[in-house]
Amino acid sequence: MKILHIGIVGAGVAGLCAAAGLARIGHRVQVFDQFDTPAPVGSGLMIQPVGQSVLDIMGCLGRAKDLGATINDMHGTVEKYPWPVLNVAYDPDGLTGETGLAMPRSALFQVLMDAALAAGAQLQPGHTVTNLNIDINIPEKRRLTFENGKESQSFDLVIDAAGARSPISPITAKPLKYGALWGSVDWVDAPEIPATRLTQRYLQAKHMAGVLPLGTPPGSDTPKAAVFWSMKRDDFQVWQDAPIEDWLNMVNHI
Ligand SMILES: Cc1cc2nc3c(=O)[nH]c(=O)nc-3n(C[C@H](O)[C@H](O)[C@H](O)COP(=O)(O)OP(=O)(O)OC[C@H]3O[C@@H](n4cnc5c(N)ncnc54)[C@H](O)[C@@H]3O)c2cc1C
Repeated sequence: MKILHIGIVGAGVAGLCAAAGLARIGHRVQVFDQFDTPAPVGSGLMIQPVGQSVLDIMGCLGRAKDLGATINDMHGTVEKYPWPVLNVAYDPDGLTGETGLAMPRSALFQVLMDAALAAGAQLQPGHTVTNLNIDINIPEKRRLTFENGKESQSFDLVIDAAGARSPISPITAKPLKYGALWGSVDWVDAPEIPATRLTQRYLQAKHMAGVLPLGTPPGSDTPKAAVFWSMKRDDFQVWQDAPIEDWLNMVNHI
């Protein structure tokens, strides 16, 4: 196998996964991120069985499972309707053993970062990439330009994992109409919110409240949950300016 010198832009989920996988099979990998201390943004997320098999290939599924929560089903109800509108179990007949895996983003980030570094990838924090320079006459010269005007060495391969607002992608991301407010809270036992379920409640098609159990992250002795509230982006300012009781009333209503 020819050993490639690979530059990865972005130390998010995609960049760290790619770094761990490529360094593991012997390539020389450098990951550039704009953050001085790369860190995850957001609360928690769910890893589907296909994502879990990637973690398994990288040898870190066991650790991820220790830090996360097993999710057996996803359940959503609309206010007042007696039947669920979302009712999906991963393994309803007990045949595959498949489950979802919910984790705090911080825990997933730590697992992936450790896997990338253990495989030999180098992390270059504090490097904001502004451009990718490719000279078609010298295709082996793929260089990244940074905010301070400096250039990277040349790479055999550059992977763009800078997310939706990548400065080197020809695709321009458009903001979605809806967004979600999120936060991490201590888990509270409640019979209507099982600890192995993604629970969602909908107010017509306008709002969604969600609770995702996250397990116990490193450094904590309390299990956590991610809570989500979705709304139109255009309504955010009005929501922020209104008294918190207005929102609590709406949440209680659904
Ligand atoms: C509320 C919410 C809930 C979600 N829930 C789930 C879920 O349950 N399951 C799921 O699979 N997905 C979920 N997602 C989607 C998931 O979060 C994204 O798909 C995932 O984070 C994308 O990862 P990424 O590595 O491509 O990009 P990112 O996580 O955005 O990482 C990009 C990295 O690139 C760096 N970067 C950006 N620009 C530059 C630059 N110019 N120079 C250097 N570095 C740069 C950033 O600092 C960052 O570290 C959710 C998203 C949201 C918003």
